[in-house]
Amino acid sequence: MSQTAKIAIIGTGFSGLGMGIKLKEAGYDNFVILEKSDDVGGTWHENHYPGCACDVQSALYSFSFEQNPNWTRMFAQQKEIQAYLRSCAEKYDLMKHVRLNTHVAGARFDEKTQSWTVETCDSRELWAYRQKKCLNPGDKLNRKDKGLPEFSNFKADVVVSGMGGLSTPAYPSIKGLDTFTGKSFHSQDWDHDYDFKGKRVAVIGTGASAIQFVPEVAKDAAHLDLYQRTPPWIVPKPDREIRPLERMMFRKFPQTLNAFRQSIYWMLEARVLGFVGNPRILKIGELQARRHIRNQIKDRELRRKVTPDFHFGCKRVLISNNYYPALAQNNVDVLTDGIREVRGNMIVDNNGREREVDCIIYGTGFKAQDPIPAGMVHGRGGQDLLDAWKGGAEAYKGSAIAGFPNFFMLMGPNTGLGHSSMVYMIESQIQYVVDALKKMEKHGWKSVEVKKNAQSQYNASIHAKLGDSVWQTGCKSWYVNENGKNTTLWPGFTWQFRQQTKRFDAGQYVCEPVAEGAGEAVPALN
Ligand code: NAP
Repeated sequence: MSQTAKIAIIGTGFSGLGMGIKLKEAGYDNFVILEKSDDVGGTWHENHYPGCACDVQSALYSFSFEQNPNWTRMFAQQKEIQAYLRSCAEKYDLMKHVRLNTHVAGARFDEKTQSWTVETCDSRELWAYRQKKCLNPGDKLNRKDKGLPEFSNFKADVVVSGMGGLSTPAYPSIKGLDTFTGKSFHSQDWDHDYDFKGKRVAVIGTGASAIQFVPEVAKDAAHLDLYQRTPPWIVPKPDREIRPLERMMFRKFPQTLNAFRQSIYWMLEARVLGFVGNPRILKIGELQARRHIRNQIKDRELRRKVTPDFHFGCKRVLISNNYYPALAQNNVDVLTDGIREVRGNMIVDNNGREREVDCIIYGTGFKAQDPIPAGMVHGRGGQDLLDAWKGGAEAYKGSAIAGFPNFFMLMGPNTGLGHSSMVYMIESQIQYVVDALKKMEKHGWKSVEVKKNAQSQYNASIHAKLGDSVWQTGCKSWYVNENGKNTTLWPGFTWQFRQQTKRFDAGQYVCEPVAEGAGEAVPALN
């Protein structure tokens, strides 16, 4: 069955919902928001591991146009953030546009009609199929297999991707993993029915996710082996309850909430001076992190193990008050010898030492360098987006890609942050896309495609700035690809990005008019 919509948005996180809200505000109603999951919230619905919370203050990590006086903590827990996003979807009457349980298998640009064909299937059926075939999300599907769910197509003039860069889980490739006889799951795919009591648990990874769930698992598990490849820099988390009186004040006097939000914004923004300007400033952060280790861990050997040897800020700086105390517990071992193989119910380290394990939890992060799977987005001439990105993902203002007309990305290449709230960046991009749509309508353009040289010049200037940043000081992180190119982070103040995305700069685009007789409005999807 073929359906149509003017705009197809992929994802219902901050990006997809924010885009929907702003489209409605601009008078657009003919759009659809496709969500693979069974509820809205994006990463805040998908990630529900114990301890999951935001590491940016909630007063800032929320929409500027929908500030929430009711956050119960400085750093809200996952459940509260997901509930906030759901309430936004309902308040702005977005649910009628949202198609839940809808997996986007592909999107292909049709040069004749200058529009997109989006291919979808029922994500529940796809999940069952993957389970049967032992496939992980992101694994390539064999399209000839008769057991695959049924795919259907619909047309959209414009596609806006709000998929985020951290949605496809990364699994380690370890010899013998397929022989493991126990339970295993990724942090994004938490099994809350699994009881850790009396179990020997192995956790692989010590990133932002693991440092949040390790303390929770360590409370229940008989034993926890933490396989650490690289210790992260961790500073204290300035978290606390937001008292009922404070919440009442925020409700009664919204300007106080806004002032609080602004103060957080400028405090975080100051960090850019260290990240991009002069990494030596970050020595202050390093001293704070070293003191944190000394304060929370008595054992010298454990202190040594968890102390990073790379520049503070090169990888994401983490915040936690309960991670180090959890590592110091008697039932937790931090193992740094690496994993050679898995054999039955044993993990064998690189020294040949075997350790029995009932459950392996992968805290191994996401495929940030391939934010869009191969074979998913095909632009002009059928080109796969991943082929266009052979040298590393890049876009113009993180939003548009040469060869992919009418395709906009939110949280696209080099829009990520190491210092502040992504919601600010998302709102900047949404403003840019809405302005593009308005200009397309005003001038009768059927398609807009960023010019190759505009994209190249933009990226040359970004990478010149990134060259001096702390992220290029030699550590290995998901910010940087295997060729050393930082494809993920924005190298500057966030207000500079906002200035750049204030208006759709049509001069940098090839704008094609609507062909004669082809200008009729597409019927709404129902
Ligand atoms: P991550 O930061 O990429 O961490 C992955 C961890 O797994 C690292 O410690 C990595 O070690 C380790 N690892 C990966 N492959 C391995 C292998 N084959 N063998 C051994 N260890 C391996 O992933 P994440 O913790 O899921 O976080 C990803 C991002 O999500 C964060 O940086 C952040 O942007 C976001 N996040 C945000 C929040 C929040 O509060 N807002 C919470 C969670 C996550 P190496 O360091 O050696 O590579």
